[in-house]
Amino acid sequence: EKEQLALLKDRKAVTKDGTPIELVANIKGPQDAEEVLEQGGEGIGLFRSEFLFMDRSSLPSEEEQYDAYSEVVKNLGGKPVIIRTLDIGGDKHLPYLDLPEEMNPFLGWRAIRISLSRPALFQTQLRALLRASAHGKVRIMFPMISNLEQIQEVKRILEETKKQLADESIAFDPDIETGVMIEIPSACLIADELAKEVDFFSIGTNDLVQYTLAVDRMNEHISDLYDHFHPAVLRLIKMVIDASHRNGIWTGMCGEMAGDLHATEILLGLGLDEFSVSPTLLPKIKHQLLQLSMEKAQQVAQHALSLGTPAEVQEYAIASHSVS
Ligand code: PEP
Ligand code: MG
Repeated sequence: EKEQLALLKDRKAVTKDGTPIELVANIKGPQDAEEVLEQGGEGIGLFRSEFLFMDRSSLPSEEEQYDAYSEVVKNLGGKPVIIRTLDIGGDKHLPYLDLPEEMNPFLGWRAIRISLSRPALFQTQLRALLRASAHGKVRIMFPMISNLEQIQEVKRILEETKKQLADESIAFDPDIETGVMIEIPSACLIADELAKEVDFFSIGTNDLVQYTLAVDRMNEHISDLYDHFHPAVLRLIKMVIDASHRNGIWTGMCGEMAGDLHATEILLGLGLDEFSVSPTLLPKIKHQLLQLSMEKAQQVAQHALSLGTPAEVQEYAIASHSVS
């Protein structure tokens, strides 16, 4: 079976009835890029930049960040690389940032909230990302957006940073695309407004499930309540994808749900445009997509949306699943 999957490497991910799907991977740093290509990934859907900031005693400089981002971008040879700005806080700590102990870290000072309150840190990262965009196809993605003003402020800072670089005659892609992670229910509910500000969405189900169901993603005592097949989650995903398409942009998914083989058909049927998964899962998801028909997937998704419990959705997903 392994050999069979290896044969898929150079095939495009396309459904049986001809709909192309973007199949890309999640990485933590330059060390993972090679594997994505080996497994036939068409790009990077999530580069978690915070790993460059962890296990060290001070902030990485603009130069260090630029080196890491451009190494990945060059390795990918023109394939798209979505780099997410710093997503620290919650379960990830940086001792040298001296952030306060919090009662509810997942509801606290994390991700874009830190970037927006530390403009120097944020601009250093944006400069490094923009400079890396001179070497290939970089897209910048912002984590934990919950309000429209946040993305407007982010874009203002990005434009200011571009202007700085231009004044210094430093090369970058002036048309660099931007996206927001959709991982908070409020972002789903204002997806129409957010879609007017960016080029794409990427649904982060790891956090979206946690915040929608009020279930701590790290707490093993309530892990049976943590379920991406919950009808509320499916309906939010549909809302986001529909809003993106209404506004002429696309939606991907970089949370774990994108790599769940039992969810592939439903997600396809809901209209998901891009799946970003762990590199090792790329051949399996491609194998699935090649065998699924969009027409049937749409019917399956439609029916799944009408079900009332997570268990019903999951049972239905497994039963309707027509992949060998
Ligand atoms: C997510 O929340 O689904 C996600 C991809 O981000 P992270 O797991 O890094 O929070
Ligand atoms: Mg997240």
